[in-house]
Amino acid sequence: MLDNQLLKIAQEFGSPVYVYDADKIEKQYNRLASAFKDVKKLKINYAVKALSNISILKLLKSLGSGIDTVSIQEVKLGLAAGFSPDQIIYTPNGVSLNEIEQAAKLGVKINIDNLSILEQFGTKHPKTPVCIRINPHVMAGGNANISVGHIDSKFGISIHQIPHILRIVENTKMTINGIHMHTGSDILDIEVFLYASEILFDTAKQFRNLDFIDFGSGFKVPYKQGDIETNIEELGKKLSERFNAFCKTYGKDLTLAFEPGKFLVSESGNFLTQVNAVKQTTSTVFAQIDSGFNHLIRPMLYGSHHEIINISNPEGRERFYTVVGYICETDTFGNNRRINEINETDILCFKNAGAYCFSMASNYNSRYRPAEVLWYNNKAHLIRKREAFDDIMRNQIEVDFNAKKDTILAK
Ligand SMILES: *Cc1c(COP(=O)(O)O)cnc(C)c1O
Repeated sequence: MLDNQLLKIAQEFGSPVYVYDADKIEKQYNRLASAFKDVKKLKINYAVKALSNISILKLLKSLGSGIDTVSIQEVKLGLAAGFSPDQIIYTPNGVSLNEIEQAAKLGVKINIDNLSILEQFGTKHPKTPVCIRINPHVMAGGNANISVGHIDSKFGISIHQIPHILRIVENTKMTINGIHMHTGSDILDIEVFLYASEILFDTAKQFRNLDFIDFGSGFKVPYKQGDIETNIEELGKKLSERFNAFCKTYGKDLTLAFEPGKFLVSESGNFLTQVNAVKQTTSTVFAQIDSGFNHLIRPMLYGSHHEIINISNPEGRERFYTVVGYICETDTFGNNRRINEINETDILCFKNAGAYCFSMASNYNSRYRPAEVLWYNNKAHLIRKREAFDDIMRNQIEVDFNAKKDTILAK
């Protein structure tokens, strides 16, 4: 998308506003699919929590994607977007047996990451096949340095507990149809990913009724120049070869599944905000924008870097700014950034604003959540209205403090 197209959107729909470029999402989807073209059965399940607008879900559906969901509400959202239950995998963590049963009733694929729940579910519903989430205890420690750690992670069932899983399966007569891992964003390089995959293959061998192996996600995208990016093409080549060999020894063409969020939508997103004021202190020039961590919390929550560009003055001379929000707390988006000269009312654009940005927005300070726009087919489509005062009041119930208090009779 071009800067002047973004500017026009800010003028038309107001600020702040999230803008997503459908072409970029399609490009990333096709890039991943073609990296694994040598695998007979590939399934990409978009991780809904990254960006859960129904139009984004429908766009991904039109590309052939399935979805990965982490709550019963995301399952319902996926069904509302038109995904069939078999295109939805439900991968929760720390939810009740009851919520898993609700998902199973809706017919979606179930992924269980807890021995106690596995045993209870298998006992009650031996006919419903489930996938199990394994914790391979692998993480990247510096450069290509493989270490075994994360023993205390709350995610997945430890590989050291496979004998216990096998015993539950034998006792309940349940069916395990998939093996899954998602190591989070720890895995930077391909060798570590392949190493973790070997652990998954070793586990998979022990289950005879598999349909798929799910390698999760954690793919890196660049946030700024010089950032490490997962080399999907190289991973595709190496993992496909290894996966195909595994299927041969297993005796069945399994489905290779992934569940990327960030990789598919991060770079498609632009967050447009307007500068309220430029404030000079003794040491710093602050650009104060009409947003805060109520709209984009990643910089404050994770220390994430989002590039900030002044699209109103792209030719202006560069100066140093600290970009902050309007929330009554410290909400620094970027410290000491080199940005083209900023004037009040300029539009600043935050890059990589597709994943974990709007989906983490709140109403803190009783502010409205922004509008969302999808740039599709060379046109701007409003896909979520900016909130209004009614949204702040919805569900709030007022107590009548003028009513007479009940008098309690003392004995
Ligand atoms: C969040 C999540 C993902 C997506 O992770 P990204 O880093 O955005 O690709 C995939 N699988 C599960 C189970 C998740 O919780």
